[in-house]
Amino acid sequence: MPTLTIDGKTVTVPEGATVLQACEQAGSPVPFYCYHPGLSIAGNCRICLVEVEQSPKLPIACYTPAAEGMVVHTTSDKVLKARQDVLEFLLINHPLDCPVCDQAGECWLQDYYMNYGLYNPKFDEEKVKKPKAVPIGPTVMLDAERCILCSRCVRFCDEITKTGELGIFNRGDHSEIGVAPGKELTNDYSGCTVDICPVGALTDRDFRFKCRVWYLGSTKSVCPGCSMGCNIEIHDNRERKERPHVAQGARVMRLKPRYNADVNQWWMCDAGRYGYKAIDEQRLTTVQHRNGHGHQTSTWSDALDLLASTLRRLQEARQMDRAGVILSTQLTNEDLYVAKRVAQALGIRNVAVQGPARPGRQDDFLMKADTSPNTRGAQALGLSLDAAGLFARAARGELTTLYVCGPDVIEAYGQAAADQVKNCVELFVYQGSNAGGSVQAAHLVLPAAVYAEKDGTFTNDQGRVQRIRPAFAPLGEAKPDWQIWTELAARLEVPVSFTDAAAVFADLAAREPAFKGLTYEIIGDAGALLKA
Ligand code: SF4
Ligand code: SF4
Repeated sequence: MPTLTIDGKTVTVPEGATVLQACEQAGSPVPFYCYHPGLSIAGNCRICLVEVEQSPKLPIACYTPAAEGMVVHTTSDKVLKARQDVLEFLLINHPLDCPVCDQAGECWLQDYYMNYGLYNPKFDEEKVKKPKAVPIGPTVMLDAERCILCSRCVRFCDEITKTGELGIFNRGDHSEIGVAPGKELTNDYSGCTVDICPVGALTDRDFRFKCRVWYLGSTKSVCPGCSMGCNIEIHDNRERKERPHVAQGARVMRLKPRYNADVNQWWMCDAGRYGYKAIDEQRLTTVQHRNGHGHQTSTWSDALDLLASTLRRLQEARQMDRAGVILSTQLTNEDLYVAKRVAQALGIRNVAVQGPARPGRQDDFLMKADTSPNTRGAQALGLSLDAAGLFARAARGELTTLYVCGPDVIEAYGQAAADQVKNCVELFVYQGSNAGGSVQAAHLVLPAAVYAEKDGTFTNDQGRVQRIRPAFAPLGEAKPDWQIWTELAARLEVPVSFTDAAAVFADLAAREPAFKGLTYEIIGDAGALLKA
């Protein structure tokens, strides 16, 4: 555990730490481009030069081990001059693209030049021209002129995905990043190369020119794409609501991975990254009631009155065994818990949770075959995962009321089975966020909020309970599932009443042994494990 002095401050750092890490720990961060804590050290950008007393040259902080007794200066005249010079070299052939570059606003070349630049460049020769706006795969666009050859993207493909699509070709000032002839950047995590590119050389083909980054709002959340539960930031265009294409209010512009040492570190897969588009596909925004003329727009009040009166009749006839509830592993712990409590209070024993219709792709990195975010949460709440059995009972005519929340049962069981259920049950309620085949089969359609519109928690396959938060309000008349269940409970005089997701979770943690002792504060940004 070496102790060193950095800008006059004494710090003790773990054995094996570098000067760069020691500087960060001391509160004197040094700039860097090629260094990334998740990749090997390349030491090629040279911007992290620092002054170490007794050392004749300025060493690069990212590669220099922190040693006992070192005295380091990060802002001496020598260091600041060296940084200016490094920036001049990096910018020799860099185009003056900032006004038209999609990275503007989150470009480390811009940021460092503002902080450390010369502001009076000496280079007045012709710049070397390189290819611009070349698609190098389905998700990534390369502008070779903007590349500073830090090799982060190359190391990512070599060390993390081990797919090796990228390389540095040619020599000298004609060196440029690229894919080998005939190859494409097609690995399952290709979007991460955009995340780690410190400049505008690699941009996201999906996000480019959709929104200037200074208009983006950011919300900490969790990817619902699979049971890994990668930590993400939802970036939405809340600051640009006046624009016609966002007339419905803020929507998701992009997802970015959020660091969590115990889950996804710095990364996320492309399926999760671009999965956000599905949340607005065929979005359900109104309450609908099917009568003889097809679906008609209804109101929350009428729809919940109808559902409540149907359940009350079954209760009075002591026939609650003819009511069934199918929940979803896409729902939050809070949604599942409130549904379970209300169903229990009403005496509905036929409650089951539907998982994904089919397994997804699994790898040995992040992607899991279970493409739902909360299977473990449903299990921890003691809910049955035999939705198929319950659905089959409905298709055999053993149920008169079926209330489906979340899963598109058509996708899971097919249109013929759903049509049969529709004909067998007296009331088929579909509560969900997007119109699948179930909507056509349902008598009542209740619009539910998507994960980006609600507060709550998912439990990933490690048993880690993690927070999701609303980036914006639900579209149209949609509401969070737990809230719909509480409004139904109020009509049936069931004492299950909550004002927000935090209150639901507090009650859940008090009553459910697996969640005992957990609070939103304890879960924080990194999540907390279920009790064993
Ligand atoms: S494309 Fe970006 S990440 Fe890759 S070497 Fe160039 S600057 Fe670095
Ligand atoms: S691995 Fe799973 S949780 Fe992570 S980003 Fe991909 S789909 Fe989302």
